[in-house]
Amino acid sequence: MSAANFDFDLFVIGAGSGGVRAARMAAALGARVAIAEDRYMGGTCVNVGCVPKKLYVYASEFGKSFSDSAGFGWQSEAPLFDWATLRDRKKAEISRLNAIYERLLESPGATIIPGRAKLLDPHHVSVAQQSFSAGKILLATGTWPYVPAWPGGEHMLTSNEIFDLEHFPERLLIVGGGYIATEFAGIFNGLGSRVVQAYRGDLFMRGFDHDIRQFLADEVRKTGVDLRFNSNPTAVEVSAGGYRVVFDDGSDIEVDTILCATGRRPNISDLNLSCSKVELDADGFILVDENFRTAEPSIFALGDLTGGPQLTPVALEEGMAFAHREFGEGATAVDYDFVPTAVFSQPNVGTVGYTEEEARQTFGDVVIYRSEFKPMKHTLSGRDERSMMKLIVDGDTDRVVGLHMVGPDAGEILQGMAIALRMGATKAVFDRTVGIHPTAAEELVTMREPVRD
Ligand code: FAD
Ligand code: NDP
Repeated sequence: MSAANFDFDLFVIGAGSGGVRAARMAAALGARVAIAEDRYMGGTCVNVGCVPKKLYVYASEFGKSFSDSAGFGWQSEAPLFDWATLRDRKKAEISRLNAIYERLLESPGATIIPGRAKLLDPHHVSVAQQSFSAGKILLATGTWPYVPAWPGGEHMLTSNEIFDLEHFPERLLIVGGGYIATEFAGIFNGLGSRVVQAYRGDLFMRGFDHDIRQFLADEVRKTGVDLRFNSNPTAVEVSAGGYRVVFDDGSDIEVDTILCATGRRPNISDLNLSCSKVELDADGFILVDENFRTAEPSIFALGDLTGGPQLTPVALEEGMAFAHREFGEGATAVDYDFVPTAVFSQPNVGTVGYTEEEARQTFGDVVIYRSEFKPMKHTLSGRDERSMMKLIVDGDTDRVVGLHMVGPDAGEILQGMAIALRMGATKAVFDRTVGIHPTAAEELVTMREPVRD
């Protein structure tokens, strides 16, 4: 079949961060593009991820700001929070964004096909009993929350449901010690819930720098979250006042709502991949090469379901690289080194590059700079919150290979720092950079004395 005989040059399955970016870039480059979406335009990030999450983080920070303001001379009545107002205003904003995503696709000429898509063969896709042919098919169906098989696990909610709760939970258990669990512990604690966060291991936020994890645990506890380590549910049952959760140490608690945030798995269950040569890794993620090719020559995959960093900017970058390579003038491979990331916990975490542990293994001789301090704002607010910043320097080359912080606006600060690290900035360059005073970020260019081992 020649390319012109296919209904489309490209059929994208999934209109999330990666799929939308690939579809609209390919359409703008002149390809005939269709994109199928069965749930919501914009995918996880826009509907049940980054966007509503950040809006809820903003909402949850007001409580602390009201009490901070007293130290600066403000007097006010105790403020009241109304969950329904936040939830419904968030819904309206997401609907606005859904419409924008539709326009983003339609304006370069992509055809939106609503419905759940599945493969029929390496060049055919069916959506709602209709079949479409395409020269290339791109799988961009993302991931889905994973809930371990605990008895009563069906009573647990996931991040898909937590945004739209009918009633605000007075008592909330959050299971997990990663991004979602820690961000939502901050959100609901800030909004007024009594939050228990239970993590199965010794210290949460596995994969982040050890000092950062320890420091964050101390700060999170100061905010009032009951953060429990070596604590995992074994069963959930309905009780008179809500849900009774039993833990592996034999203890139990009663809560109104349980959020399970124990990772996400590839969303591939009904794609009918078996009609193709597409291969999966041991965890079910789709195996692709650096150009997003699967083992089936006409089928590509990118974004969360390929098992790389599950971050929207990574999916966007991949979507853009795919479109340029397949329908444009070519593209350089996506560079996964020094991908910055922020956890919108309270306080925030920002990180780019190697952790101290990784750097010691990779470079051998590393020099560590670390600073802990009380942010200036809290000298008058009276809030008991501290910040931490940490630089990891390769001892041989003086290159700064890791930068980590816990503190307000870590994501904002880290974005610029990520450019410096990507460019290979040395500690000497950091030292020659003039600070901006008075800011917290100036600490990053004024750390002079390495930490002694
Ligand atoms: P998705 O955005 O998940 O899109 C996949 C789309 O495919 C979905 O719309 C789905 O409905 C659709 N689909 C699936 N199967 C089919 C089918 N068979 N037919 C048709 N359509 C189908 N990342 C950040 O960078 N910053 C953050 O602050 C952040 N916060 C997050 C908070 C939460 C609570 C969550 C869950 C995630 C967060 N992420 C964040 C991660 C980010 O959302 C993902 O990395 C990103 O959405 C991945 O994009 P994607 O295109 O791979 O998949
Ligand atoms: P994470 O991988 O971040 O965390 C999962 C947590 O669940 C870990 O603490 C893990 O423990 C624990 N866990 C896994 N399996 C079990 C089990 N069987 N029993 C008990 N605990 C278990 O996943 P999330 O669900 O929090 O988030 C998914 C992804 O979404 C993130 O990895 C991130 O890439 C993305 N995201 C990004 C955000 C951002 O950029 N700010 C915000 C939210 C999500 P252990 O460490 O011991 O394995």
